[in-house]
Amino acid sequence: MSRQTPSLSFEVFPPNPAVGNDKIIAALKDMQGLAPHFISVTASNNKFNIKETTVRLADYIQNDLEIPTIAHLPAIYLTKDKVAETIADLDKVGVQKILALRGDIIPGVEPQKDFRYATDLIEFIKEQAPHFDIIGACYPEGHPDSPNQISDIQNLKKKVDAGCSSLVTQLFFDNERFYDFQDKCTLAGIDVPIHAGIMPILNRNQALRLLKTCENIHLPRKFKAILDKYENDPESLRAAGLAYAVDQIVDLVTQDVAGVHLYTMNNAETAQYIHQATHALFNHQPVK
Ligand code: FAD
Repeated sequence: MSRQTPSLSFEVFPPNPAVGNDKIIAALKDMQGLAPHFISVTASNNKFNIKETTVRLADYIQNDLEIPTIAHLPAIYLTKDKVAETIADLDKVGVQKILALRGDIIPGVEPQKDFRYATDLIEFIKEQAPHFDIIGACYPEGHPDSPNQISDIQNLKKKVDAGCSSLVTQLFFDNERFYDFQDKCTLAGIDVPIHAGIMPILNRNQALRLLKTCENIHLPRKFKAILDKYENDPESLRAAGLAYAVDQIVDLVTQDVAGVHLYTMNNAETAQYIHQATHALFNHQPVK
C-alpha cells in the first residue's frame, strides 16, 4: 500500500540573454501540457542579471503558464540590498517560492560578505518576506566542500531549522546512496520532504561534463556500461540514458519518494519521454 502520491517537477535554466527566449518559451509550452507540480528556474551565480533572466522567466511560468514556480537564488556574490531587491521583484510578480542557495565559489572571484552559507540567506528571507516558501538544496553523496557526510547533514539540519519547507537533491545515479542519505536525514531529525533530482544522460558531451564537475557522484556499474558501450553511438546512448532515468524513477516512486525533480536541460522531449513512461505512477491514488 502506498503512503503518498509523489510529485513530478522540472528544472529549467534561463538562456544566455544574447540568445533570447524563443526556444525556452516553446519548450515550456510543451512542458505545460505535462502538468508538472512545479517548475524551478535556475539563476547564474555571478554572470547574468537575475532580474532579466531568472525573475523574468519565473514570471512567465507562474503567470502566463500558471504553473507554480520556484526561483533559485544563489547569494554568495550578492549583497543584502541586492537580495532584498530580488525578493521584492519576485514578490511583485507573485513568485513566492525561493530555492535558497549559497552558490559555488568561483576561483579568483572574491565573494561578498553578507551570505556565507545558504542558512544566512534563509534567515534573511524569513526576516524580509516571511510569507515566502523556502526550499533548500541537499547532497545525497555529500557536498564537495564538506569534510564528511556527517558534518554535511549536521549543516543541513541547521538549514532546515532556519526555515526550509522541503529539499531538492543534487543529481545522483545510485538510488541506494539516496536511500542511505534519507535514512541519515531522518536520524538527524530532518523531516521535510526530499525531492530526488534526476538527470537523464542524453549524449556523450553531457556525460563527460558531468563526470568532470560531479566527482563525488557514484556511477554504478550498469551506468558506466552504458557510457562505455555506446560511446560512439549517440542514438543508443540517448535511448539507454532515458531508460536508465525511467528505471531510477520507478524504483524511487515504489519506495515512496516525496517527489522527482527532473533536470530537463530545457529539453521538452526529455520531459515528455519521462512523463509518457511514468505518469501513471505519479497519478496513482493512495489505497485507503
Ligand atoms: P550551503 O547549504 O551553504 O552548503 C555549502 C557548504 O557549506 C556545504 O559543504 C555545507 O556542509 C557547508 N555549510 C553549510 N552551513 C554551514 C555552517 N553553518 N557552518 C559550516 N559549514 C556549513 N548553483 C547556482 O549557482 N545556481 C543555481 O540555480 C543552482 N541550483 C541548484 C539546485 C540544486 C537542487 C542543487 C543541489 C544545487 C544548485 N546549485 C546552484 C549549486 C549550489 O549553489 C552549490 O552546490 C553550492 O556549492 C552550495 O550551495 P548550497 O546552497 O547547498 O550551500
